[in-house]
Order: sequence, then structure tokens, then C-alpha cells
Amino acid sequence: MEAAGVPSGTKTTCPYCGVGCGVVATPMPDGTVGIAGDTQHPANFGRLCSKGSALAETLIPDRRLLHPAIGGRKASWDEALDLVATRFRAAIDGYGPDSVALYVSGQMLTEDYYVANKLMKGFVGSANIDTNSRLCMASSVAGHKRAFGSDTVPGTYDDLEEADLLILVGSNLAWCHPVLFQRILAAKALRPEMTIVTIDPRETATSAQSDLHLPIRGDGDVALFLGVLAHLESEGAIDDAYAGAHTTGLDAALAAARPYAHLGLLAKATGLDTDRLETFLRLFALTTKTVTVYSQGVNQSATGTDKVNAILNCHLATGRIGRPGMGPFSVTGQPNAMGGREVGGLANQLAAHMEISDPAHRAIVQGFWKAPTIAEEAGLKAVDLFEAVLDGRIRALWIIGTNPVDSLPDADRVKAALAACPFVVVSDIVEDTDTMAFADVALPATGWGEKDGTVTNSERRISRQRAFLPAPGEARPDWWALAEIGKRLGHAEAFDYPNAAAIFREHAALSGTANEGTRDFDIGGLADLGDPAYEALAPVRWPLRRNGSGAERFFADGGFFTPDRRAKLLPVTDRRIDLTTPERPFLLNTGRIRDQWHTMTRTGRSPRLSAHMPEPFCEIHLEDASAKGIAEADLVEVASEHGSAILRALVTPRAPRGTLFAPMHWTGEFASKARINALVPPRVDPVSGQPASKALAVSVEKLAATWHGFAVSTERPDPAGADYFALARAPGGWRVELAGLAAPADPDAFARQVLCLAETAEILSYIDGTGHRRCAAFADGRFLGALWMSGGPVAVSRAYAVSCLTGAPPESAKRFKILAGRTGADRPDPGALVCSCFGVGADDIRRALAGPDCASVGDVGRHLKAGTNCGSCRSEIQGLIDAKPVVPEPV
Ligand code: SF4
Repeated sequence: MEAAGVPSGTKTTCPYCGVGCGVVATPMPDGTVGIAGDTQHPANFGRLCSKGSALAETLIPDRRLLHPAIGGRKASWDEALDLVATRFRAAIDGYGPDSVALYVSGQMLTEDYYVANKLMKGFVGSANIDTNSRLCMASSVAGHKRAFGSDTVPGTYDDLEEADLLILVGSNLAWCHPVLFQRILAAKALRPEMTIVTIDPRETATSAQSDLHLPIRGDGDVALFLGVLAHLESEGAIDDAYAGAHTTGLDAALAAARPYAHLGLLAKATGLDTDRLETFLRLFALTTKTVTVYSQGVNQSATGTDKVNAILNCHLATGRIGRPGMGPFSVTGQPNAMGGREVGGLANQLAAHMEISDPAHRAIVQGFWKAPTIAEEAGLKAVDLFEAVLDGRIRALWIIGTNPVDSLPDADRVKAALAACPFVVVSDIVEDTDTMAFADVALPATGWGEKDGTVTNSERRISRQRAFLPAPGEARPDWWALAEIGKRLGHAEAFDYPNAAAIFREHAALSGTANEGTRDFDIGGLADLGDPAYEALAPVRWPLRRNGSGAERFFADGGFFTPDRRAKLLPVTDRRIDLTTPERPFLLNTGRIRDQWHTMTRTGRSPRLSAHMPEPFCEIHLEDASAKGIAEADLVEVASEHGSAILRALVTPRAPRGTLFAPMHWTGEFASKARINALVPPRVDPVSGQPASKALAVSVEKLAATWHGFAVSTERPDPAGADYFALARAPGGWRVELAGLAAPADPDAFARQVLCLAETAEILSYIDGTGHRRCAAFADGRFLGALWMSGGPVAVSRAYAVSCLTGAPPESAKRFKILAGRTGADRPDPGALVCSCFGVGADDIRRALAGPDCASVGDVGRHLKAGTNCGSCRSEIQGLIDAKPVVPEPV
């Protein structure tokens, strides 16, 4: 039903990655929501990726947290907020301001973030507020500040299209920032001479579409960019005029880089062959219009900040910064990582890009807020913050919009910390995240489509997220709950906000206070927006000063935000170490997949998105797999010194030898043992505090499962008793992969339990000559579910089995066909899903390729439409054409 007064066709912003695509959301009369890309939004011009396109599917109301709760009992907002304020006050009075903490999120809107930071730093008087953005881009922030004196992304998305050489470092842009990647590919189609280089240890969907792939050794990036700098010097490609006028530290940086002028040394340090190295060095030296994009492969490292500075050094030395088609470009993972930085959401920042360590900045912020105090030194960064929770220094913790039990390194230690904490508050939209299990007080937040505010994308563009649905139950915005605590702590005037617009105005006014061009972040020009103007605010890029001036880009003519207004080149050194041991001889790299987002609290609710890679997996090179006796689709146990996970083996030539890759998305909600951050050690970059999530030493062994199973069910399956399960949504119900070390004592009872069957259900079962068990269940002519079990990985067509949940139930005489788990000859099996938008599978594509007139990605699009909407699957289609699948198919 269309909510009364809710306008149709609301312009808003996607809540997933840092591209920040504009979305038009239209509530429909039947209660669904139409989703389309906003053709006028300058980030995406109408495009959406698979995740953005499926946003409507993630709005389903099940498992929403609808009411405040205390100790699991429903409570009123007043009761819950009074308790939070009382416990926070008691901790502050008894143990000091640093005994309380907030752990917040790049999912929060800028207005939420602003109030959280103001509450902690100005009114509690502690900087113990950190954010999950610490896990995402803290190394970029630290690198920017060391070089520029400010956390500035100098360029724009247009630069990525205008570059002649586009270098993607540690970034699977095709999957993690898909619309930006599609913009780049479209630009390359118009200018084929544009060269794309991907630097990544893995072969990925991005490298598959690049002109040159440098399969660098993990953490070899500092050495590589030292080699680039040394080569620039030897080729006379340093821009002496720019470097002389606008930088310091060039001589020391060059001295640090010179040893890497030796190609053999560089090859050894990076693991790259000299041919590829020479090609890349030549390209960099000769191409003025160069953009270097970097993301988590750079940031999530114990040397992340040095990697950033090694890249920045090369751009500063050549003056390739702040001009069209040139510059270093950090892309953020989260939708509002940039907004969080702007309000000081990190423990070592103040608001509006001001510094805690600077007394003048502290005075500006404290005076502006009329605050009774101001944090005088940096607070605890995420990993240290949870350590302080564990050892009792922090006695009251409020977690907002994030799931640290799954997303922080050493995740089981985080569990222990929350279990030990005297008072934990969790604000979320979902009632049963792995973190919510530890909440003394649960506070229901509004989610995407219900909340109202702004986010900033990776190119400094502020966009509105607008509400187009009524808030369910008693869900309220996070800023409101935070302000209520501020009031209850005795600061009614400072937290008396009527709406998000008022918070934004204050945030904008602070950014322009005592600024006069001395700080990069200035949106003082938006400080007087009235409520209607805020409601109508079109996407706008900062800076936007009170006098109306702005800047498309930064630093073309210097003007850095250091004391001498010059950028600083850093003499970084290669500190890479070999982490492997004889007991743990593999390096595990963790990351994202195309169709899931973070800990799956939203995307895990979409059947369409869950169909792409429905199970936690581990990529392993085929020769490593062979040496370990691991076959395709086996289950493997991957273990570090901190924890272990059970994952499906994807055996592929694309994985580098000696390394594994596993996604970081799966939680205890969706899999028995796949919380990959439980394996990641709390090893951080010493400057940024960002965890090194992409390189850890592990062992891998085949799991000695004696049985495997696969089930589809209209009800959420109950996998109790299985040693392994992986649940996923499917159209019309659920799918689940199962396995165990010992066979269920009563297989029939186990099947009933998995499929959640009532006694009255009709069950059709069959055991073939090899002992494979199959059963299908019906009630009143309806198909309820089916379970297939065998001694090895179950060879059932997943696509067919899932289709049984929504297809017309077969007549009684033909029900046995379901037990075969295969389509008939009249109904070709689509195979593993490749194109989410049009539901096209790998086998569909192979059949098309076997026919006439179909040899390219474009041909596949013409025949099947696959790859013609969001484009996220185009590299997978190319992989099938090359007979080298980007995503190996387990069954
Ligand atoms: Fe959302 Fe995809 Fe755009 Fe990222 S690229 S903002 S996930 S639609």
C-alpha cells in the first residue's frame, strides 16, 4: 500500500558502496518498491549495479527490530534511554569519561555521525568513538594527512574517465565499485587507447578486463611504487617545477627509492616478472594523464599508510595531481565513509577535518558547540577499543549500525569482550545480528528508505538519502537516540534538534567557522539552507564556501594544508615480512564478492543476490589443491592461530600459488563456521590503526565429512546437528548446503527437522544403490521442500532444485521427478547464476556460445540480455568465453 503523504519517485542514494549512486525509489500500490538509477545523479547517470538494482528485495520487514528492548524484554523508548543515560553517567562519574565508548559505522548518515561525535568529544569529553570505517580507509586518511596536511581526495570521478593511464591498485573495482568500473569501461570503449592496469595478487573480474595485470606479491606495493619513483628519476620524468614549488622531502624520498631502480631487486621484492615491470614503469613514466585508484588491497595492510604515501610520492613528484585526468584516488568501501571523516567520526579526528592535537582547532570546536569540555587527545582506535572493553577499561559501550562480532579482526575475542562488558547498547535495524546477541539494551533504528540525511561519496559529493517509507514499529533515527542521551546527560540545549536539516546546518556552519581557506573541508555555503532547500538539495561536491567559492579539484597549483602549504613526500621503506610458517604455509586474502554487502544483514535477504555465490568459499590454486588432496567442491577447514572456518573449495588457476582467498561476508546467521574475521589477527598498521585483513598465515585441510546434503525448503531450514551448513534465501524459500563428520543417527528424522515438516506432511523418499538418499515433502498438493544426501558433494542442479520452490507443483504421479534433482531434457539447466539482473546462468551462456553468431560479451547480451543492465557480470561472461571462469562452479 502506498503510504499516505509519501511522494512517489523519491530521489535518494544507494546505501552500499562509496560510489554513491543516485536511486529513484517509487513505492507501488501493491506494497513493493520500484527501484531505478537516477539519470541525473552525477555519480551514476542512471546506472545501478546488481546490489543497487536489488534494493527493493532488501526492504522486507522480517527480523526487523521494531521496539526497544532491555535484556530481551520489550521496553519503551523512555525506559531504554533512561537506562542508557544512567549507566553511561555512572561509568563516567565512577571511572572517568574514557570508561565509555561509541563504536559507529560508515553506514550512518552524516547527521547521525555528527551528533555521535559531538556527544562524545564535546559533552562526554572522550575521543573514544571509532568507526568501522577504521577497517576500510583509515590508511588513506593517514597517508593523505601525512602528505597533504589534510584528508583530501583531490580528484573527481571524471578524472578516471579522462585518464590515459588508469592504475587500479588493490581494488577489484568491477565487483566492489561496479558502477564506477562501468563508467571507466564506457570511457575506454570511446577511447581504446586508454590503458587500464590492475595491480592485484589475484586474477579478478577487474584484472580480466584490464590491459595489463600485475599479479603482485601480497604487500609488495610499497616496493613497486618505490621502483616507480626511482624510474621516474632515471627517466627524467620528475616535474622539477611543481615539486620545487609545492613539495618538500623529494630528495629523501628519491634516496629511499633509488635501490629499487634495480629491476632484479624490484622483481624480487614484488614477485613480478621483469617484462611486466618494464612495461608498467614505462607506461607510468610516459603518461602524463595518470590516475592511480586504490582501495582495500592498499588500506587493509600493516604497511597500508606507507603504501598510500608511496603512491602519493609518485604523483607529487610528477605534479600529476588536481588536474583533469590526473591524481591519486582513494575509493571508499562504505556509503558514508567520507561523511564520517568530515564530522570527525574517527577516534583521532575532531569535527570538520580539524585536529584533536591542535589546541586552536579544539578551541574552535569547543567554542562553536558551547561545550563544557573537549577531548584533548586521540581516543582508542577500533582494535584497541575492543581490547579496552575486554580488559575492563571501557565499562559502557554503544554500538551503532555495525556488526563487530563478524567484521572486526580476532572476532572471537570481540565476542569475549562484549560478553565481559558490564553494559552494551546496540542500535540496529535487525533484531538478531551476531552482535545484537550481546546487547543489554537494543534500540531500533530506521533503515534505508526510512531515514533522512546526507552521505558523501568518494569524490566529495554530498547527496541526500531521503525517506520514502514510513518507519516501522518504533524505529527512530540514530541522531534522535543520540540527542536524547545528550539531553538526559544534562545538555538539552546542545542536542535540541528538530530534524536532520538542523543538524546539517550546524555541521555546515562549523566547517566554515574560522576557516578562510585554511582547511579543505568547508561547506559553509550550505549553513543557511532552510528545511525546504535541504529537502530539495541536489548532489553537491565540496568545498562550497560561504562566499560561494568552491573547487572542482585540489592541489593543481599547490595550496596544501600543511603549515608551509607544501606537500610532503615521505621516504617510505619496504617493511613487508613473510608471515607464513611451516604449520601455516598459506597466505589468506579476504575480501568482498559481487552481490553481497558486508555482513549480509541486508543483501542476505535478497534471493536474487544470494543466488550468485550462495555459499562461503575458499579459492585455492589447482596445484595447491592437488598437493593437499583437495578436489573441486570439497569442504575445507582453513585455520589461523586465532580461529578456523569451514568453506567450500573453489579450485582455480586464477588463485596465486600459496595463497587462498575467502569472502568476509558470512556470519553465524548464514553459516555454521565462516566468520572469516575470526581468523584475522589483530595486526594493524602502526600509523593508521587499520587491521591487516588481507594477509594472514593459515593452514588448509580437507574436511573429513562423511556425508553431504543439499536442501530447498519453503521454511527456513533447521540445520542443527550438521557440522557444516550454509543457508541462503531463494525465491519462494531457502536453500541450504549441509555436511557432517558422522551420519545422522536417524536420517528420516533429520530430514523432517531440516525441512521443518509437520507430522502430516507427505514424504516421498528414495535411496539408490550407492546409498544416496533423496526425499521430497508435500502438503495439500504444495511442495514444501526436498533434501538430497550423499557420501560426497551432492550432484544436484541447484538451479532446478530452487526452481521447485516457485514452480507449479507436479501432479502426484510425477513427483518422483523432483528426487532426480535434474531438469528434464525439455527444460535446460541454466547452471550457476551469472547475470543477477536477468537470471542468466553459466550453462545458458555456454549454450549460446556454442551456437552461431555468438562469440563476444556483446553477442551474449544480444542473445540472452545478460550483461546489458548493470554490467557487473560482463567479466564473468568473458571468463566463460575464454573457458577460464572468473567464478569456478562447484557443482
Ligand atoms: Fe550502490 Fe552499486 Fe552504485 Fe555502489 S556501485 S553505490 S553498490 S549501485
